[in-house]
Amino acid sequence: MKNLSKFYIAGEWVNPISDNMMPVLNPATEEQIGTIALGNMTDVENAVAAAKSAFDSFRLISKADRLALLNELKRLTEKRFEDLAQAMRMEMGAPITMARDAQADAAIGHLQGYIEALEKLEERYKLSNSDILIREPIGVCGLITPWNWPINQIALKVIPALATGCTCILKPSEHTPISAMVYTEIIHEAGYPPGVFNLINGLGETVGSALSRHPDIQMMSFTGSTRAGRAVTHDAAETVKRVTLELGGKSPNLIFADCNLEERVTASVDECMFNTGQSCDAPTRLLVERSCYEEVLEIAKRAANSITVGDPAQEGNHVGPLFDQIQFKRVQTMIQKGLDEGATLLTGGLGKPEGYKTGWYVKPTVFADVSNEMTIAQEEIFGPVLVIIPFEDETEAIAIANDSPYGLAAYIQTGSAARAERISSCLRAGSVHINGGGINYGTPFGGYKQSGNGREGGLMGLEDYLETKTLHGIV
Ligand code: NAD
Repeated sequence: MKNLSKFYIAGEWVNPISDNMMPVLNPATEEQIGTIALGNMTDVENAVAAAKSAFDSFRLISKADRLALLNELKRLTEKRFEDLAQAMRMEMGAPITMARDAQADAAIGHLQGYIEALEKLEERYKLSNSDILIREPIGVCGLITPWNWPINQIALKVIPALATGCTCILKPSEHTPISAMVYTEIIHEAGYPPGVFNLINGLGETVGSALSRHPDIQMMSFTGSTRAGRAVTHDAAETVKRVTLELGGKSPNLIFADCNLEERVTASVDECMFNTGQSCDAPTRLLVERSCYEEVLEIAKRAANSITVGDPAQEGNHVGPLFDQIQFKRVQTMIQKGLDEGATLLTGGLGKPEGYKTGWYVKPTVFADVSNEMTIAQEEIFGPVLVIIPFEDETEAIAIANDSPYGLAAYIQTGSAARAERISSCLRAGSVHINGGGINYGTPFGGYKQSGNGREGGLMGLEDYLETKTLHGIV
């Protein structure tokens, strides 16, 4: 990791101007595994100037050449696949099997989705009134990503920028810089012209805010908390730049008595705990039809108890630690809140699992008898904590599901296709997963309400990076 404390600007690894440094810690061992520099205003200016200058020529590059570069990027991503997986295992504690199968896999899956979308994208066509419509790259883009799915988020932003002829500055989460550095090496090797892609580390309040306010940046694409998404929107308002946001969630999962309860409830618990509960679209609110409530509690408890916690370096389907001490404390505070608010603790609870002194491990936790007004039902916990809420009928289930400031995803478990259709149309969420239906690469992803705006992935993901120009009078 010889370049970890450097930035990548104008096609080179450069020494930061800022001398402010920050340690990178392994959440499983609490050991320092590297040091990054936290950029300052001059570092931001240098990165933006490089991207601005590169845009003049990169915006003109043909679609065929952009596709050739993306295919080379794919070949090199496949070559560095294990490096990406190991980086995320070390920096955020993703167990190595899921780091490969889900976290690193996203780099290739999203890339393929974008390649297929770009092949189909019409960048110039005639309207029926004979005016010409042209889709052009929007310009210099600022890309800010979180730590929980580091490469997934980077791929969802960097690839559409490069695919459409934009240039960009990536500011990854300061907590997960290693996978971002590996990804930067891949882009460098793929042969992108200097300045097309730039990487700068730093804190959100300084580097992130400076990018959002910068007059030479035309678009900010942000993924992270709703709190920081609001800050980016405020900062970007002065220069009226485009802002796309992928924010938090508190996704409902509606369980009806007519589904295969054993299978669907077990899978639902596993999905909530996946990535140690650190997924924006995790099904964290289990809404259960009253007639099968007691049975679901039994299955959910058994399922949570069978989840093992373990070392990210080991192969297997266990869950790893939370990504840092702050997150550990936050999850403990939320579990305590659940107890104070009178929810019934079915399993898990405060403290580390038995045998773990080192590492930010927590117990997979399930609360029953939760009401949707409780803090643990309203706020994103971002840990392996499931809350179970009973409902009487479909109308009440929909009302509880929609009673949230978020609207990222929703889940339905039912044996009735008609019910699934009926309820899906009433749920205010960007995606609805029915009986375990998963996300496919190339499908747009994004939220309603305070879960954000814009869509990432596939064709809609490309469109966010395009401006529309119309030509009148060409014959
Ligand atoms: P965070 O908001 O703390 O940080 C995300 C990024 O924003 C980091 O790079 C950070 O440095 C930067 N940032 C922080 N404050 C900023 C500011 N004022 N201006 C500009 N940038 C700023 O979030 P996190 O803890 O890294 O990630 C977890 C959050 O991300 C959760 O809320 C989760 O739901 C959300 N998330 C959403 C999606 C989605 O697609 N909707 C995907 C993954 C994560």
